[in-house]
Amino acid sequence: MASGIRLEKLRKSFGATEVIKGIDMEIEPGEFVVLVGPSGCGKSTLLNLIAGLETATGGAIRIGGKLVNDVPPRDRDIAMVFQSYALYPTKTVRDNITFGMQTRRIPKDNQQAALEEFSQLLQIDHLLDRKPGQLSGGQRQRVAMGRALVRKPEVFLFDEPLSNLDAKLRISMRTEIKKLHQRLGKTIVYVTHDQIEAMTLATRIAVMDNGHIRQFAPPADIYENPVDLFVAGFMGSPP
Ligand code: ADP
Ligand code: MG
Repeated sequence: MASGIRLEKLRKSFGATEVIKGIDMEIEPGEFVVLVGPSGCGKSTLLNLIAGLETATGGAIRIGGKLVNDVPPRDRDIAMVFQSYALYPTKTVRDNITFGMQTRRIPKDNQQAALEEFSQLLQIDHLLDRKPGQLSGGQRQRVAMGRALVRKPEVFLFDEPLSNLDAKLRISMRTEIKKLHQRLGKTIVYVTHDQIEAMTLATRIAVMDNGHIRQFAPPADIYENPVDLFVAGFMGSPP
């Protein structure tokens, strides 16, 4: 099962500066939404709000219909993958992947089954006894994805997960993420600054500017019918 996400008049300020300026958005269960926009426009803040890592200053977030504004991050059925992998350097790959399941008191047998399933899927099953320092960047990013996947959440949030990887690896990981989505059918919100990544992965693209969503539409619509010059300049076809 996957849960939809609904944002209602969502706002976030840091001190006197408003960064998210009243966002309304309805993401269907199982959608792959790609969020794009210039640096500093509020993409990470929006993901952090959905993840519960930041508290909204206004409006509401519903996941699977349930209001989650006051639900702490660990009780939300969400996993987030960041650009910086934030793996525990002294733990093995195995322990890095299963740590989140241990803290959630998932039974040992289920932990082992999930570890096997996803380490095979991500082709890191031969690396389980290594430490993060003994892995390449691409392998570390797979471990970070494995750690998110084994919890089998309803919603995945990705914040520029591939931007530290070289071009070749980025393309192969992009294909794998697309396959994962097709296979697992979870709801994904994915931030990238790579237009091709956005066009190939998204069921719908949200183009963000300065705390607002300018357009939220399938890739072909964004490309062929941008609503304004900003979207056209950022994502659309030449005028
Ligand atoms: P993006 O991910 O689109 O590059 P961010 O969401 O990281 O943008 O940041 C949006 C704006 O909010 C930026 O101006 C940034 O400096 C500011 N900001 C983000 N996090 C904080 C914070 N914890 N405290 C103060 N300002 C912040
Ligand atoms: Mg960011």
